[in-house]
Amino acid sequence: MRLIILGPPGAGKGTQAARIAERLGIPAISTGDIFRSNIKNQTELGRRVEAILAAGGYVPDEVTNEIVDDRLTWADAENGFLLDGFPRTAPQVEALEQMLSRHGHALDAVLELTVDEEAVVERLLKRAATEGRADDTESVIRERQAIYRRETAPLADHYQQAGLLVQVDGMGAVDEVTDRVIDALPAH
Ligand code: AMP
Repeated sequence: MRLIILGPPGAGKGTQAARIAERLGIPAISTGDIFRSNIKNQTELGRRVEAILAAGGYVPDEVTNEIVDDRLTWADAENGFLLDGFPRTAPQVEALEQMLSRHGHALDAVLELTVDEEAVVERLLKRAATEGRADDTESVIRERQAIYRRETAPLADHYQQAGLLVQVDGMGAVDEVTDRVIDALPAH
């Protein structure tokens, strides 16, 4: 299965992506994780994107697209993958379509975790306080939500029109949400 998972920051997308991918036997590919590990290892890419991630902005499309294009050629992604955090912009949607069609592939479904924004902001603020994440101030958290609403939420409309969108209620216990997602997926 070739899948995308969409959802605002703090919706539990990364957690769900890992669990769903494991159940389906496909890799979860997170562009955020790829950037963070490059920052940690201070690679050239890491140094280029560090300030962008710290400010909660988006890495330029050309940079992000190239990383995904490369990652999708790995052997583990041959029969499927779950993309977490990509695509996030209209040009990334277009780039992904081109990457897939080059290999005669297409997406099977686009999952969207729907959540209540205020509840998510509250949860992220609590986490920032308890985990001492000084960078996660309320303004950075709200800015990330606003960027998602402006740039990424419209992608759901695009995929809805393409008949691929599967919306799942992302509120509630982690196990329940995973089960809901698995139940909502097209036959596999
Ligand atoms: P995430 O872990 O998905 O929340 O991503 C963390 C950060 O990595 C984001 O706030 C962006 O700065 C950057 N990032 C991850 N994926 C993308 C993407 N598809 N396009 C642009 N920036 C991204």
